[in-house]
Amino acid sequence: PDDIAHPVAVGLEVAGNGPALPLTPGLPDHFFDHDGQITKQTIRAITLAALAPMPGERLWDIGTGSGSVAIEWLLAHMDNQAVGFEQNAERTARARSNANNLGVDWLEVKQGRAPEVLNDTPPLPDAVFIGGGLSQALLDDLWQRLPKGVRIVANAVTLESEALLAHWHQQVGGELLRLELANAAPIGTRRGWKASYPIVQWRGVR
Ligand code: SAH
Repeated sequence: PDDIAHPVAVGLEVAGNGPALPLTPGLPDHFFDHDGQITKQTIRAITLAALAPMPGERLWDIGTGSGSVAIEWLLAHMDNQAVGFEQNAERTARARSNANNLGVDWLEVKQGRAPEVLNDTPPLPDAVFIGGGLSQALLDDLWQRLPKGVRIVANAVTLESEALLAHWHQQVGGELLRLELANAAPIGTRRGWKASYPIVQWRGVR
């Protein structure tokens, strides 16, 4: 019935914000307060598709930054759960306020460094995203800690973390994808393709 407000719209109204929110992943970056360390809109949409949230599932978002990936995971189904892990105090606070502003105030954000911060965080997740803090120690830790069937997605932007994922892919399989995007931008009075750093994405199932 149309007299029942949509839960997301209620969240936005409580936060005193403006427009209604589309629920497909890949919201514009400016919907999130951030300091530049954010998984950009298009890459985020592809990342959410890889994470493939199902109703009632729980995400660990490691290096949650602005919280954008965890927030879109929560927006996908209103009974989803997510924990963001972030080493930086300012970003931890920002992820919390972004979640409140976008109507998913049940996002948990834990401040600390992965992998240590993952200790004592029951229950275990259905999917894990590594958007920061990627290391061999983290991958080994997750492989130990997680039960079979958990989906894992990791994005790398540096040559060092890309090399790590290439090696990991050889060891455990899964899929390795390189995403190279470019936006049309002015070159004087004309336009050219402004390239973003390539992103290497590994996805696999424990
Ligand atoms: N997906 C995020 C962007 C991540 S940027 C978003 O969309 O906003 C990478 C983040 O990982 C940074 O905020 C950085 O502080 C954090 N980080 C890096 N190493 C970490 C570690 N070992 N543990 C926890 N967070 C880490």
